[in-house]
Amino acid sequence: MTTTLSSPADVIGTVDTRLVIGGRRTEASDGARFDVLDPATGEVLAAVADATPQDGRAAVVAAVAAQAGWAAVPARKRGEILRRAHEALLADTERLATIMTLEMGKSLTEARGEVRYAAEFFRWFAEEAVRLEGWYGHTPDGASRAIVASQPVGPCLLITPWNFPLAMGTRKIGPALAAGCTVVLKPAPQTPLSSLALADVLAASGVPEGVVSVLPGSRAAEVVEPLLRGGDIRKLSFTGSTAVGRILLEQASTAIVRTSLELGGNAPFVVLADADLDEAVDGAMAAKMRNMGEACTAANRMFVHRSLAAEFGRRLAERMGALRVGNGLDEGTEVGPLIDAPSLAKVGSLVDDAVSRGAQVLVGGAPAEGPGYFYPPTVLTDVAPDSALCATEIFGPVAAIQVFDDVDDAIARANATEWGLVGYVFTRDVDRALAVSEALEVGMVGLNVGVVSNPALPFGGVKQSGLGREGGRHGIAEFLEQKLVVLPKRG
Ligand code: ADP
Repeated sequence: MTTTLSSPADVIGTVDTRLVIGGRRTEASDGARFDVLDPATGEVLAAVADATPQDGRAAVVAAVAAQAGWAAVPARKRGEILRRAHEALLADTERLATIMTLEMGKSLTEARGEVRYAAEFFRWFAEEAVRLEGWYGHTPDGASRAIVASQPVGPCLLITPWNFPLAMGTRKIGPALAAGCTVVLKPAPQTPLSSLALADVLAASGVPEGVVSVLPGSRAAEVVEPLLRGGDIRKLSFTGSTAVGRILLEQASTAIVRTSLELGGNAPFVVLADADLDEAVDGAMAAKMRNMGEACTAANRMFVHRSLAAEFGRRLAERMGALRVGNGLDEGTEVGPLIDAPSLAKVGSLVDDAVSRGAQVLVGGAPAEGPGYFYPPTVLTDVAPDSALCATEIFGPVAAIQVFDDVDDAIARANATEWGLVGYVFTRDVDRALAVSEALEVGMVGLNVGVVSNPALPFGGVKQSGLGREGGRHGIAEFLEQKLVVLPKRG
């Protein structure tokens, strides 16, 4: 699409703000709408249709009705549709990035990067669609022949968070559609516009009616529970907080719904004494400041060897302090606002708590004046391990440094959390690097690098950070069942 869009209002005006139920655009059954705000200004961007439980039911009925037809579409054709959607997203980058910046706050540069990242999930899973695995063989006793085939799990409920409004949708829709599943997507109430725009891109790329429904809304608990307990949804894929993941896992138990959960993190970032300091500071910037720290992969606790701690803190504070904070729409902005007022208040209180327990502020340390929900990049050092920010996701641009002397102690402190999504390790010693990677209780490790996410690789956590993996070959397996066919061996 080559549109010339002159103002933010023009861009928002391109999005159909009604629900998507079985290929139809419709108002909520009770006519309700809810406001979506621009976090840079606090102003209302759009009023979006607010799905009701009845709308949820209608979307599931549509997904069930479309399931057999979509599963019967040849895998090559499903892949080609996804491949077209990949190209359509890229061609529409400016509009989609602007929508994302407006509703979520991230800079246009990051939003453009997210469009590329989001599109890549469609390309990767377009390629995976034709590589579903099967098996043919004889049982060990020689008495039977057997076939094991991959089949789509069935209609899926996909629930996404606000921090990556487009990519969290494509990361789930891509493998589901490639596997032959129909989906109902429930985006976060803060950022429904990206998902609504995505629905149009998918329809224009050839996804048949009923295969993708989108239910924006402010009444998540009311809408989701009956769907999960109802028995028609065969798979839940959720990205969000551990608290909500726990509720959904319980609800999924009623109808034994297969469940993938990508939950919170509390990532340790460990800098050993022999680390390359330039590389460690670059890694810290990426691991901390991607998405303004509003990522479950964000480095939440930095453990730096005493011999490097002062210099690491000084350089990190210099880099963080030089970042340009502002409205994400302004070219040159590097750090946008936080998502909403509660997030701003939470980040502020975490910093205040750490300071009250003895942390030193190297840069930042207090919220900016409004309007908008801005918190400046902040570096704290000598953070006490009992500070609240060591036991909770900061979800903001705050780097919290602790000093260590002994690597075993650093590992023990890194593992002293119920979460286990990702960890980062910086060292030039390969043996040490691998030993520490093995010892960290996490699903992913960045070795001398601050970003691990890639659509071709399995993303996910251990402990209370989740169940299952997204991306890579593992990502599509989450949406497949193994069907076994056994027959006597007569000939
Ligand atoms: P965050 O704290 O980052 O907003 P949440 O876990 O609250 O993360 O939200 C992630 C997603 O889960 C959003 O789409 C939200 O609407 C949805 N959600 C929140 N509470 C519930 C619930 N009780 N049942 C179903 N979905 C929910």
